[in-house]
Parts: sequence; C-alpha cells; structure tokens
Amino acid sequence: KFIFKNVAKLPSDALFAIKGRLAVDPRTNKVDLGIGAYRDNTGKPWILPSVRKAEQIVQADPNYNHEYLNISGLESLRKNAARIIFGDSFDIANRVVNIQSLSGTGALHVGATLMESLKLNERDVYFSDPTWGNHLQIFAKCGFNSIKSYPYWDAASKKLNLDGFLNTIKEATSGSVFVLHPCAHNPTGLDPTEEQWKVILESIKEKQHVVLFDSAYQGFATGSLAKDAYSIRLAITDILKDVPVMVCQSFAKNVGMYGERVGCFHVVLPESGYNAEEGSAIQSQLEAITRSELSTPPAYGAKIVSAILSSDELYKAWSDDMVTMSSRIYEMRHKLVAKLTELKTPGNWDHITSQVGMFSYTGLSKEQVARMEKEHAVYLASSGRASIAGLNDGNVEHVGYAIDEVVR
Ligand code: PMP
Repeated sequence: KFIFKNVAKLPSDALFAIKGRLAVDPRTNKVDLGIGAYRDNTGKPWILPSVRKAEQIVQADPNYNHEYLNISGLESLRKNAARIIFGDSFDIANRVVNIQSLSGTGALHVGATLMESLKLNERDVYFSDPTWGNHLQIFAKCGFNSIKSYPYWDAASKKLNLDGFLNTIKEATSGSVFVLHPCAHNPTGLDPTEEQWKVILESIKEKQHVVLFDSAYQGFATGSLAKDAYSIRLAITDILKDVPVMVCQSFAKNVGMYGERVGCFHVVLPESGYNAEEGSAIQSQLEAITRSELSTPPAYGAKIVSAILSSDELYKAWSDDMVTMSSRIYEMRHKLVAKLTELKTPGNWDHITSQVGMFSYTGLSKEQVARMEKEHAVYLASSGRASIAGLNDGNVEHVGYAIDEVVR
C-alpha cells in the first residue's frame, strides 16, 4: 500500500516563492528586494574580502582536511563567537555553555528543542508582532502550543509600540518565554533605543520571564559588533545577570556565508547560584540534540569564521567589511527617500532612513506590493518588507518611481 497517499500539500514558503517568480521573469529591469541577503552595488552576491583571505589561509594549512568536527563543533569558533557577542571582558569560561549550530535557524531549533526537553514548551512563547515567519514554525514543531505575540510595530506611527510591548510583558503569565531581536529587527528594521531596552528588560525581569535573544544581524544595524550587542550585554551583565539567558547567533549575514550555515547556540548562566555540574549537564543536553540531528555540525564555514575571529588582521578586515555593507545599505535608504522626495510621492517616508539593518518595513499594502511586482518587476514580501540590500545605484530610481506610482 502507498503509505503517502493522503499527504497534505503545504503552501510553498512565501519568500522562496518570490525568488522562484523572479527567476522566470524576463523583464531586464527586475529588482529583488525579497530575501535578506547582501548584494553589492552591481546587484551581485558579495564574498567579503576578509572571507576570501581566510579561505586562502585555511586551505593553505598543511593540516587542512574535511574530517568530522566534534559533536559540539569547532572549539575555537565557539569560544570566539561567544567573545564577539558577549564582549571581551565577559567571563565566558564560567558563564557560557554553547554549541555550534546550523546557522541561526539551527540555533533556534536547538534552543526550542532544549526547552521542549525541559517542558518549557508548555509555557506561552511570545514573539514580536510582526516577526520573522520561520520563528513560529520552528517553535510549533517543538511542541510550543501556545504561541503568542507582543505588540512591536505601530503601523500608524511607524514607531515602536512600547506601551503595548510593556503591557504584554506585564500581563503574560510569569515565566513565559520571550524571543527578542537584539538588533536590526526583521522585518521592521526598527530597534528599541538603549533607554527602551532598559525598561523592556526590567519589566521582563520583574515577571521572571525566560529570554531568548535571536541575533541574526550583529554588525548590520550600526556596523559595530559591540553596539549591536548592546541589549544582550545589558541583559547578561546587568539586568538579567541572575538568570539564564539563551542566545542564538548566526554568521550568515555578517560574514556573508549564508549557505555555509555557521552559527552557535549559547546558554548564558547566571552570575552566581549554580554549580559547574549544572553547566555541564546543559552542555550534555545540547550535544545529545546535535548528535541525533546532525551528528556533527558543518566544518568548512566554521573554520573560515574561526580564522577571521582568531586573527587580529582578519578581524580588522572583517570589521571594515561590515562597515562597507552597513554603509552601502544606509546610503541606499537615503537615495531612495531622496527620489521619493523629488517625486513628491504622497506620504511620509522618513521611516526608511530611520530604520536600520537589512530591511525596511515600507508600509506598502499587500495590493501595492502586488502592483510593484506586476507593473514594475520590483519584488518584495507581501508584508511590505523590502530588503534594502537589493537596492543599488542602477535600480534605486526605478524602485522610487515604482513606489511613487503604486501609492498615488
Ligand atoms: N532569525 C532572524 C530574525 C532572521 O531574520 C534569520 C534569517 N533570515 C535567522 C534567524 C536565521 O538565519 P540563518 O539560519 O540563515 O542564519
């Protein structure tokens, strides 16, 4: 008998579907503002110069090979990944338990699976409204049956709905799980200010909620790793230093090694009040999750990122590369708004320049987005999220005209 007879056909992933339509669109002026991947000023994927150098160095090593890594992954990557996200002065040796993951998605999956095995999935989990769509299905797959949201984007003002956010933190059952975007919020490009972070984390502390930071864009908001880790560092060194904090870390965007799947999942232990045995018990859980799912994590990208993080010269080159990427995106935001201003496009477009990171939540409606695609070959998510990295000097005017036409 055919056991797969009644298999339900699921809808294709919306973002990857955009990619599919774009690929077969014959129009030569088509523009891809869909998937969040950096493009250079000619619209091409960019291999960071620091990555090129690291690849040469790693491959020239006489001991270079393709052996399996340990279950926990490449030790030098795990140590240095923790250092860049938690800061040089943080007590990584005593306070961090971590494992290499399949990029940020894999880190989220490890975190959700860990919580599932500890029955924390019986609690409510809160995501920002809106959030990255994949969050919801990763957590649902791990048995989180009560997926909720906290207000974040206020559509009318195009600003943070701080009161709504705080109110939800206050109203949520004590001990709920809160997933936070530490910087370059996807999809809105809107981050809380430092002052707002303090208030948010204080309220979370008051209600003893559990925090998981999902860091997929460190370096993309401001070009500075330290600035973009502000909220995480504030939590682990100050406001939430007495409780465990989970952190998912992706190197897809900031190193530009999207397809190589480099990432880490970290549990930051409280400053005091636990013993080393408890830390190693968590480590053993992380290893068991990885062993059954990946056996061992992928080695190639891990070696490249580790080489960058452990050499002063490569690290400096990488820092410059992040500035190159974040500055080009910044410039494109301004060029787009300049065009809309010149065209006297109805509405206020200041949010495009005040938002940070890869994305802009343009405020375009579903219908306007559909028209952008149909009439102008400009592709973006139906939510109105545009990947600003897809703009360049050759297409920004066209996109400006397209927006102008659809909003009139
Ligand atoms: N979290 C967020 C918020 C993201 O936007 C992304 C990438 N789109 C990820 C996690 C995971 O990305 P990756 O698995 O490619 O590292």
